[in-house]
Amino acid sequence: MEQELKKVYEAQKLDTQIFEKEKRLISAPKMIAAMEQEIETLKNNISKEKEVIDELEKERRKKEKELETDKDKIKKYESKLYEVKTNKEYQALLKEIETVKSTNDNIEEDILILMEKIEELKSDFTNLSAQLKKKEKEFDQNRDKLLKEVDTIDKDVKKLKEERDNLLSDVNSNLRTTYTTLIEKRGGTAVVNLKNGVCLGCFMNIPPQLFIEATKNIQLILCPSCNRIFFFQEDPE
Ligand SMILES: [Zn+2]
Repeated sequence: MEQELKKVYEAQKLDTQIFEKEKRLISAPKMIAAMEQEIETLKNNISKEKEVIDELEKERRKKEKELETDKDKIKKYESKLYEVKTNKEYQALLKEIETVKSTNDNIEEDILILMEKIEELKSDFTNLSAQLKKKEKEFDQNRDKLLKEVDTIDKDVKKLKEERDNLLSDVNSNLRTTYTTLIEKRGGTAVVNLKNGVCLGCFMNIPPQLFIEATKNIQLILCPSCNRIFFFQEDPE
C-alpha cells in the first residue's frame, strides 16, 4: 500500500501541474479576444474621426464655393459702377458691394475656423493611425507567442497525463477510483499532506490517533472532514 500511496501522491503532483497548465490554455484565447477587441475599438474611433473630417472638408468646400460666387458678384457689381447713370444708383450699388463683402468676411472667418478644426482632427487621426499600426504589430507578435505557448503547453499536458495515467495504472482500482473522483470533486486536489494534527487540504484538526496512523503512510486514510487521501511528507518540496 505504501508504494501505491506514493504513486497517487506523485500523480497528484502531476495533476496539479496539469491543472495550472490547463488554466493557461483557457486564458490564451481570452487574451487574444481582448486584444482583438482593443484593436477593433481603435479602428472604430479612427473611422469615426475620418467621417467627421470628411464632413468638415465638405463644409469647407461649400463655403469656398460660396466665397467664389460672392467674389464674382462683387466683380460684376464693380463693373456695373461704370455704367450707372445716377448717383443714387451708384450709392445703392456701393452699398450692395459692401454687404456682400461683409458676408464674405464672415465666410472667410468660418473657413479659417473649419481649417483649424480640420488640422487638429487630422493630427489626431495621424496619431491614432500610428497607434493602431503599433498595436496591430504588437498583437501579431503577442498572438504568435501565445499560440506557440499554447502548442507547447498542449504537448506538455499530454505528456503529463500519460505519466499520470502510468502511475495510476499501478495502483489498485479502488484507490484509483477514489483518487479520480476526488480530483473531480475537490477542485483538482485529491492527495494532501498533514502537519501538526491538521489536514493541509481543509485545515481541519485530525483526531490524534488517526494523525499518527496517517503519518506512517502504510494504509489508505481519508481526511474525516474533506475526504481527501492523506500522504505524509515531512519536508514536501
Ligand atoms: Zn481535510
